[in-house]
Amino acid sequence: MAAPRSVNKLGVIMGDQLDASYLRTLGLDRERDGVLMMEVAGASVDPPSHVQRTVLFLSAMRHFAAELKAEGWRVEYRSIADAGNTGTFEGELSRGVHELTPGSIVMIEPGSHGVLRAITQACDDLGVGLTLFEDPHFLCTHAEFEDWASGRKELILEYFYRLQRKRLGVLMAEDGKPAGGAWNYDKENRKTFRSAPDAPPPPRFAPDAITRDVMDDVRRVLPDLPGRLDDFAWPVTREEALTCLRDFVTNRLPSFGDYQDAMWTGEDTLFHAVLSPALNLKLLSAREVYQAALDAYEAGDVPLNSAEGFVRQIIGWREFIRGVYWYEGPDYAQRNALGQYGSLPEFYWTGDTDMRCMADSLRSVLDRAYSHHIARLMVTGNFALIAGIEPQVVNGWYTGMYADGLDWVTAPNTVGMAMHADGGVVGTKPYAASGKYIQRMGNACKGCRYDVKSRTGEDACPFNTFYWDFLIRNEERFRSNSRMSLILKHVE
Ligand code: SF4
Repeated sequence: MAAPRSVNKLGVIMGDQLDASYLRTLGLDRERDGVLMMEVAGASVDPPSHVQRTVLFLSAMRHFAAELKAEGWRVEYRSIADAGNTGTFEGELSRGVHELTPGSIVMIEPGSHGVLRAITQACDDLGVGLTLFEDPHFLCTHAEFEDWASGRKELILEYFYRLQRKRLGVLMAEDGKPAGGAWNYDKENRKTFRSAPDAPPPPRFAPDAITRDVMDDVRRVLPDLPGRLDDFAWPVTREEALTCLRDFVTNRLPSFGDYQDAMWTGEDTLFHAVLSPALNLKLLSAREVYQAALDAYEAGDVPLNSAEGFVRQIIGWREFIRGVYWYEGPDYAQRNALGQYGSLPEFYWTGDTDMRCMADSLRSVLDRAYSHHIARLMVTGNFALIAGIEPQVVNGWYTGMYADGLDWVTAPNTVGMAMHADGGVVGTKPYAASGKYIQRMGNACKGCRYDVKSRTGEDACPFNTFYWDFLIRNEERFRSNSRMSLILKHVE
């Protein structure tokens, strides 16, 4: 006799919740409850998703579902290739509820205001109870962040980070002071390369049968996604992600601190971790990632400036922007404090520009859905800021075009940090820079068609021209910002 279709509780696992321990958090029972996982085409369309990002999500989901099934879990899996797939979370949830008639739905809160709203509304419409659990992956709860943030005029990372260090007991000396005597070693972390760096690249994983199936489905169902697929090499399982973590700690972390702000054309990963896609899919836990760096430091394999600089990204910045995303609320991503309304230049989708720094950063994005943080902030982000592009358009581009792009990640990083459109919530001054900064931190200006020393004329570096234009058009706005006063004197 066929097994009854009904389940007691239905645990909804989203594409960025691929941690088996979540099933315990949700209180699911293998015998009586079920798991629903949904691939939806709509998630890759608005904003347009890089084809590698979509394949990464779907492949990691299918691998995870196969692991759960092998452990005896009942998994209802909705593929984008299924004939009846509605293409939306609401539609697939509704189909799941009608087929499985669960008594209730349980899930870890999704990482987006929009998805949270859609799921909550769908459950209301379906008349089924929904219980949401806070995401235990993160090291700072909503309540702890609110407690820290409420009443503050500005949310300054440094203060949040120090609190996290103390709270988690990370890199603290016994006397309650920071290990080594300083909270950060950024002054040591701005070295530039003099010749091509000898940076060991992260491991690459050839697509297996599951990933190749996903690629076929994506090419058929979503044929127009931007970016290249032929170089797909992302980790799609926890085992592969752990290989990447070990590789980073051994091979790149020792030099990560020194060169974390440096750039070099054709070198896309340098000494960076490239772990954020696996972290954001929850193939890796934040705790094991920072602990691996601390273990290497304690073993004497990694200098303090590298260990601290990396740990700051994990327990500081990543937790900070996640806190800001939920604390500031759904309207945060819509802010446009500088009143910028320009459209995104076509070359953001093609990489076809004579600006050598931009062409190299965009090539990295189009080739592999990735560029490291300084290329994101100080090249593509900086250009969008000083050229007056609308923050929401830029935010959509970053969310869709990066393998680690998720709503909670990109809204504070883009609308706040890169575009200064949140009015200074996450950055006390805009990250605007002229070509001089790019020249200092990398080698792109050598051989560029533009002259990094010129501000006007046919050959002037566009970063210079736009930089001064940005300052001039925002002069009044920035006058009350003490951190901008020296720069504004130059404008005069
Ligand atoms: Fe970029 Fe200007 Fe340097 Fe060319 S000269 S690489 S446009 S900063």
